[in-house]
Amino acid sequence: THYVYRFGGGVSDGGAGDKNLLGGKGANLAEMASIGLPVPPGFTISTEMCTRYYQEGESFPESLRQEVANGIAHIEGITGKTFGNPADPLLVSVRSGARVSMPGMMDTVLNLGLNDETVQGLAATSGDERFAWDSYRRFIQMYADVVLGLDHGSFEEALEIAKEDQGHFLDTDMTADDWRKLTAEYKRLVQEQWGKPFPQDVHDQLWGAIGAVFGSWQSERAKVYRRLNDIPGDWGTAVNVQAMVFGNMGETSATGVAFTRNPSTGERAYYGEFLINAQGEDVVAGIRTPQYLTRVAREAAGARPASMEEAMPQTFAELARVFELLETHYRDMQDIEFTVERGKLWMLQTRNGKRTAKAALKMAVDMADEGLISREQAVARVDPSALDQLLHPTLDPEAERDVLTKGLPASPGAASGAVVFDADTAEKRAELGEAVILVRVETSPEDIHGMHAAKGILTARGGMTSHAAVVARGMGRPCVSGAGTLAIDAKAKLFRIGDRTIREGETITIDGATGEVMAGKVPTVEPELAGDFGTLMEWADKVRRLRVRTNAETPADCRTARGFGAEGIGLCRTEHMFFDAARITAVRQMILATDEKGRRAALAKLLPEQRSDFAEIFEIMAGLPVTIRLLDPPLHEFLPHEEAEFEEVAQAAGLGVEALKRRAAELHEFNPMLGHRGCRLGVTYPEIYEMQARAIFEAAVEVAEKTGEAPIPEVMVPLVATRRELELMKDLIDRTAEAVFAEKGRQLDYLVGTMIELPRAALKAGEIAEVSAFFSFGTNDLTQTTLGVSRDDAGRFLTSYVDKGIFPRDPFVSLDVDGVGELIRIAADRGRATKPDLKLGICGEHGGDPASIAFCESVRLDYVSASPYRVPIARLAAAQAAL
Ligand code: PEP
Ligand code: MG
Repeated sequence: THYVYRFGGGVSDGGAGDKNLLGGKGANLAEMASIGLPVPPGFTISTEMCTRYYQEGESFPESLRQEVANGIAHIEGITGKTFGNPADPLLVSVRSGARVSMPGMMDTVLNLGLNDETVQGLAATSGDERFAWDSYRRFIQMYADVVLGLDHGSFEEALEIAKEDQGHFLDTDMTADDWRKLTAEYKRLVQEQWGKPFPQDVHDQLWGAIGAVFGSWQSERAKVYRRLNDIPGDWGTAVNVQAMVFGNMGETSATGVAFTRNPSTGERAYYGEFLINAQGEDVVAGIRTPQYLTRVAREAAGARPASMEEAMPQTFAELARVFELLETHYRDMQDIEFTVERGKLWMLQTRNGKRTAKAALKMAVDMADEGLISREQAVARVDPSALDQLLHPTLDPEAERDVLTKGLPASPGAASGAVVFDADTAEKRAELGEAVILVRVETSPEDIHGMHAAKGILTARGGMTSHAAVVARGMGRPCVSGAGTLAIDAKAKLFRIGDRTIREGETITIDGATGEVMAGKVPTVEPELAGDFGTLMEWADKVRRLRVRTNAETPADCRTARGFGAEGIGLCRTEHMFFDAARITAVRQMILATDEKGRRAALAKLLPEQRSDFAEIFEIMAGLPVTIRLLDPPLHEFLPHEEAEFEEVAQAAGLGVEALKRRAAELHEFNPMLGHRGCRLGVTYPEIYEMQARAIFEAAVEVAEKTGEAPIPEVMVPLVATRRELELMKDLIDRTAEAVFAEKGRQLDYLVGTMIELPRAALKAGEIAEVSAFFSFGTNDLTQTTLGVSRDDAGRFLTSYVDKGIFPRDPFVSLDVDGVGELIRIAADRGRATKPDLKLGICGEHGGDPASIAFCESVRLDYVSASPYRVPIARLAAAQAAL
């Protein structure tokens, strides 16, 4: 095997298909070079080397030296420059590049190849001494930070002091001599902090940088990012070594980042930022405020320096041509980095751009309409989980707003929360359940955990492509960036805007779609689901096979779910209706009763309440199946815990407080999840299920008479382990149905089925299917009972399990396909062997998880059932699973 892949100058050892091997950046550089775009020549060291580097105790095999030497020779051959040559030195950049982009996570070194001698050569060949020394000092600064791990603050400080000493305000005011002096100071800092002089041998520099890139794969920052984004640790990163081109060679040079469409709204317009006479990192670092690419964008934003279209019309036209070429080639929106060196355009990177959910939808629909992609591709392209961003409320346009300031609309969505000024505080307060807005001058990778914990992010500095903006969009957090009037005093934990002061803990609201920052909490409204969303959903519905139902029991949830396209109710948890404050007394009376007569008396009070609950749901879900699950939880959950409550209940139940406490103690269970719950309640106290069944059938008849449309009740028995249990319950339900139908003189269709929540039920599914019209996999309990992991206590240790790779994801969130999945497969096969038309669904939380839905498709369940807000996600995921 070889590890080095070249690109540029008519050579491409790889291509876009090699992302796993070359990383996204390396693969796309090779691809761009192969389609004739102007790419500075270079080479990629593959991700396989990263894996080997760690396997071999963080060292390189000898053979890599020769391969890298060949790679350098390739660059030298094309550029005509020589690495380390004092007369005409080749300079290179060294960057990381994993399979998927990990913004801000991995490190970059620019201008590598400069030393005390080659800097003179650079000055001579560029004819610009100032530029040469500025490049050298930048290189030392980056190298000291990224490769040597020295304190970058002290370098920043030295720069500030140098500027102050010279009375300069901007970096651009510094002269060649100023930069030369600062370089000497930087070298002194390196010697002081590292104990060795700054490496002058260009090959030592190169190997140091390559090692640092591979080393950064296992940095804490990278690990956190991977965990948050489900990126496996064994993918590794590639290293890209590429000839430098310079955007800081005067007024005809520039550097920029761009998107071929607006990544925030999806609008078809070039979108980006650039800086004249600047080097790559200047744009994203947010130190200078960048300029717009197009005239239209500049005008829309008000007065700002000339756009690229105005300042460099010819180069801009060339760039626009490249944008079009890239979009038709990749058939997707591209996120691009470019540099203009003395009027010549160079492409440094392209990749499919990250986008907000709103933009993803719009682009998918637009590109299908433009004929760039098919409708199926459009459906496949939108990440179902990202829809979550769109399904939540936005600011009420009618509500009053106390607007403090306006920044850039960096990531859409609205959020209110308490102001915090650092990531750790954000995380701490969020853990306590508080909504927080993280307010920073600008963000860096060290802030990721705080950004994740926050409901929204506000920065004083940085553009639309700043770290804060890019990361917030990726995470789906609303973000307002570059709110320039914001004066943050992080030490005093406050910020000022004009004469207003906002302190830590005070509530603000940000609107990432407009850039507005408001004092206090602004009310929100439900999202609009028409337009592109509706279109894409329609296309998705055409390709999906799985039906999508919802888990809901309140009328409001049922309406929301129906609005989101739910095709029925897959789980109505009746115990939630028992918790109702107005009914709890009757419920408690029922539990405390010592005989059947007492229980029946209490149940008689509950019957009309349950009946009206069901009637309302049947009406809302008219024409669709409604699965009602009979009572499931352990009875003691309904009992009082506090003294005052005991007295109240004792009175209502006509019992003494002591007797009541004794009864509560009797009901106590050591392991209630495995205790007296589910159909075990129905077996021991059949009158409870009888009342519920009666309520269901009476409500169904009532609604059928009232609306003329007969509801389709599916009565579901929980926590069944054996055929006999279900048989007993089914008899009871059928008898009740007959009685109700006889009384009302009207017959209705209904089904009786069971949940599969226990391994025994899954294994004996063949028998159980003899008495069951349907199975609904209750994967919350099935996961709990299969893994022997308590669903209520798992949080304490499951994170470690995921970190250590024991489970790829939390099995209560994403189905354990290997284990629990096998039981589902067995149950589905055995159930269908008995009854070919057995209806199969899933109603655990997994019914709303895209990966689990893909599994459900693979075992050909009939439907998934998800919570109301996840219904659209499930529709899209089901469509993707079918493609
Ligand atoms: C389940 O166990 O998956 C289920 C849907 O029921 P519950 O969560 O109510 O136990
Ligand atoms: Mg359950």
